[in-house]
Amino acid sequence: MASVAPSCINIKKPKLFWTVGPALFGNIGCFLSNPICTVANAVFVRTAVGSLRPVLTTSCTGVASFVPSVPQASSRSRTSTVTVTVSATATVTATRKLNPIKMSAKSSNDIDGKAIAAQIRAELKVRVATLPSPPGLAVILVGSRRDSQTYVRMKKRACEEVGVASFGFDYPDTATEQEILDKVHELNQDDKVHGILVQLPLPAHIDESNVIQAVVPHKDVDGLHPLNTASLCSTGTHVGVQKLNWKDMASVPFHIPCTPQGCIELLDRTGVDLKGKNAAVIGRSNLVGLPVAMLLMHRDATVTIVHSKTVNAAQIVKNADVIIAAVGRAQMVKKDWIKQGAVVVDVGINSIDDPSSKKGYKLVGDVDYANVKQVAGQITPVPGGVGPMTIAMLLRNTVNSCVRHTASKSEKK
Ligand code: NAP
Repeated sequence: MASVAPSCINIKKPKLFWTVGPALFGNIGCFLSNPICTVANAVFVRTAVGSLRPVLTTSCTGVASFVPSVPQASSRSRTSTVTVTVSATATVTATRKLNPIKMSAKSSNDIDGKAIAAQIRAELKVRVATLPSPPGLAVILVGSRRDSQTYVRMKKRACEEVGVASFGFDYPDTATEQEILDKVHELNQDDKVHGILVQLPLPAHIDESNVIQAVVPHKDVDGLHPLNTASLCSTGTHVGVQKLNWKDMASVPFHIPCTPQGCIELLDRTGVDLKGKNAAVIGRSNLVGLPVAMLLMHRDATVTIVHSKTVNAAQIVKNADVIIAAVGRAQMVKKDWIKQGAVVVDVGINSIDDPSSKKGYKLVGDVDYANVKQVAGQITPVPGGVGPMTIAMLLRNTVNSCVRHTASKSEKK
């Protein structure tokens, strides 16, 4: 394959960009086979050959990088206050400056995960519309757990919303491990499937780790395969690999687990700077605690992990600027554990009795939200905090997987 230099667009005067931007993009539109361009918070989509239309029109600053995937002979350049160099047909990935977003939050210091996740889904929808064929997510559900059925339904609905094809495979509680492994092997070979999700937990007679390890790592959109975990835990020292840009998780070339990725994305999009901060993670599970601690470390926070054998958990947490609670114990983290102004991300989903509700129960987090929010600088509510982000990150992993698959296919040609 001929090597093609990435095209770059430097936006020098955002206001002027709005005036000349669409016209300029019109001129280069014919060069863009997958014409999506994200510049800061603005997204452009080509609606017909030669014309691009802005679809999320908020502020416009920063630099967009275009990474061509399909080389073409044509090249053209044009200079004005906006400088554009186009050297190839392009699939676009973008570096974006994430500005804090204002949302209708439940209280002034709430981090509104629902609104942020909706914004991410809208961005993904635009991105998916530019792909030659839709990304595909296969979801395997074994058994009749009500909560798992609900999560799977929500994931399928979210797929539909952004244009990801979802393929559901439901098995009864009595399904054997071999049946599930056979399906995973089949999906590993299926070109229409870019992500495979096995809804956990599986019934006790099936070994979860055997199933997780059967998924090929590049389709493991849950990020739980040991190779993806190992990649996440590598700091790049002593193994001669290139340092990754952890500030742009979409550029990381393997799958990061969805809930931890969602926690960091929430912090990024609310303008929380992690560099040099003391972070406490409560919980050390493979699913949440461990990977989120690694991500915080990659983002230059100093991380302490608290678990069930930790002595003086409250004192450790009190020292933290950022707290991620992933324990599975209703409202365990109390107000006096929290430093004034600290940022609190509550991953927990726990059901407690609530005679005042129709269902007789309600969902709460691992944090005593009502009291902790009086001292926290920012806090995620439950529900409406981390939960919607998990699904948004699942979609993003699936779309990334599809984009990488498409790029590697065109490289082989
Ligand atoms: P998990 O596998 O049960 O792990 C819980 C962790 O908490 C363990 O590491 C455990 O420590 C630690 N722990 C238990 N009791 C503790 C205590 N008293 N003090 C300090 N640490 C304690 O749970 P998980 O899968 O990580 O999930 C955690 C919570 O997040 C659950 O409520 C789950 O429903 C929720 N969740 C939410 C989402 C979402 O999308 N919002 C996604 C995944 C999970 P040891 O290792 O020492 O046992």
